Amino acid sequence: MVNRVNIVWFKRDLRLADHAPLWEAAKRGPLMPLYIVEPELWKCADSSRRHWCFIRDGLIDLQKDLRSLGLDLIIRIGSVETVFADLLAETGGFSLWSHQETGNGWTFRRDLAVKAWCQGHGIAWREFTSNGVVRGLRARDGWAKARDAAIGQPLYPELSSHQATLCVGIGSDPLPQKNDPLFGSVDIGSVQAGGRQEGLRVLSSFLADRSRNYLQTISKPGISARHCSRLSAHLTFGTLSVREVEQATRREIDSLLAFSDADSVAKRRNLSAFLSRLAWHCHFVQKLEQQPQIEYQCMHPAFEGMREPHFRDDFFEAWKAGQTGYPLVDACMRSLKDNGWITFRMRAMLVSFASYHLWLDWRKTAPFMAGLFTDYEPGIHYSQFQMQSGVTGINAVRMYNPIKQSIDQDPEARFIRRYIPELRDVPAMFVHEPWRMDRPLRSYPPPIVDHQAAIRFAKAEIAKRWSRPGFRDEAREVHEKLGSRKKQPNRRQKTKPVDKKQMQFDF
Ligand SMILES: Cc1cc2nc3c(=O)[nH]c(=O)nc-3n(C[C@H](O)[C@H](O)[C@H](O)COP(=O)(O)OP(=O)(O)OC[C@H]3O[C@@H](n4cnc5c(N)ncnc54)[C@H](O)[C@@H]3O)c2cc1C
Repeated sequence: MVNRVNIVWFKRDLRLADHAPLWEAAKRGPLMPLYIVEPELWKCADSSRRHWCFIRDGLIDLQKDLRSLGLDLIIRIGSVETVFADLLAETGGFSLWSHQETGNGWTFRRDLAVKAWCQGHGIAWREFTSNGVVRGLRARDGWAKARDAAIGQPLYPELSSHQATLCVGIGSDPLPQKNDPLFGSVDIGSVQAGGRQEGLRVLSSFLADRSRNYLQTISKPGISARHCSRLSAHLTFGTLSVREVEQATRREIDSLLAFSDADSVAKRRNLSAFLSRLAWHCHFVQKLEQQPQIEYQCMHPAFEGMREPHFRDDFFEAWKAGQTGYPLVDACMRSLKDNGWITFRMRAMLVSFASYHLWLDWRKTAPFMAGLFTDYEPGIHYSQFQMQSGVTGINAVRMYNPIKQSIDQDPEARFIRRYIPELRDVPAMFVHEPWRMDRPLRSYPPPIVDHQAAIRFAKAEIAKRWSRPGFRDEAREVHEKLGSRKKQPNRRQKTKPVDKKQMQFDF
């Protein structure tokens, strides 16, 4: 039908720029930009109001930008199938346009149901690839090349008002407020601001200035908040595309090529490291795209059943509350609950502590942390949880030493004292290990487990699995399907010596 309505379903792509479905749909006829608030999604264990707050900022900007084109953003609250059935009745027929979504198990099943519904009702649903992720891939060979080619393509231009035709007469639900009970009732602290304009501002300040100290501070729990890009939530919810961020970064690197002063050289190095991380973003989302089960199952089957029977609720509660007695672990957890972001190394340490020291199953800890992270991206999240819990069978097992991390990354304990007021008056020589003081503290707990004993136990349990017959064959299969194809550095020449205190094991 020539003038069929074209519904552009916005999901994790809250922008007009570099938006293939919008651009292609606009060529076909009247447009109806749509966002669906799905109550069932918000009941999932990994959803939280923090995500909604960030999304809502994005929707407000999207509304403004669409209005400048003479378009309206239609909001509907309800199950997707009901919403589409209503819209079918209201429009008499539509085509559906969207990006492919690599979300959690719930959105995966919802998309299968939408596909079936569309087929049953004669609706064409055209989905476009997103951020270099390739759908339908069986193994990893050739993926990195395909990803780089997609990310190198020119951006889709923004529509102009004469290209967009409004579909008239369709009503919208009001946009729910940030504190609507639909998104849960847990107190969420502060939330990073969202929205397209904010995303562009954050990108520009990172490229122009903040990236100067990127690598130098990336593992420091306090100061990294300023010098890391802070683009993760924007990439997760698509207020910026990976392609536009990568291309802007490459332009900045190119502009520095003519300069050989130390500052320009350092900035180039920092921005190149940032580019690698953008590629990791796509790499991890690709893993979930290829194997949605990694949200629920250990990548390597040998680790199934290893931790589940030993789950200790009291340990879980102490970890969640920032009451383990290990100052840096507790400060990180409290800070995360306060503001929804913490740097990579501290995320890894928090998970390592839960998985090795407390021997908690990652399937219980991962949804809890997903709710805390504003930038919750299922592909990265579950892959990282599995890696930091030692259940992939294809990565070196790294058990973070929380005392060493504390001394290395927060030597003056500024971050610790900020988030653990109970330790404010503890002398510097004891603040990383307050249990060493003669008099125990009344307001802060002693360590929940003994570090050395916990690590000995964890290492023995993991080693048992690695030495099982057939382990390596299964690991090869995991690598074939999900592993990176990047060449490993020549171990003898290039890797740093193993830091025993850090405890990295290559079984
Ligand atoms: C247990 C655990 C869970 C994590 N969960 C998430 C998550 O849900 N969402 C998320 O975006 N990141 C996650 N990360 C990865 C990383 O910690 C964050 O991407 C990063 O801290 C976000 O801050 P930034 O944007 O300032 O990062 P930058 O260092 O500025 O990096 C730029 C971008 O690269 C990507 N990136 C950075 N580090 C990684 C990484 N190790 N793996 C994959 N992509 C990376 C992100 O998109 C990030 O925005 C997780 C890491 C761990 C250890």
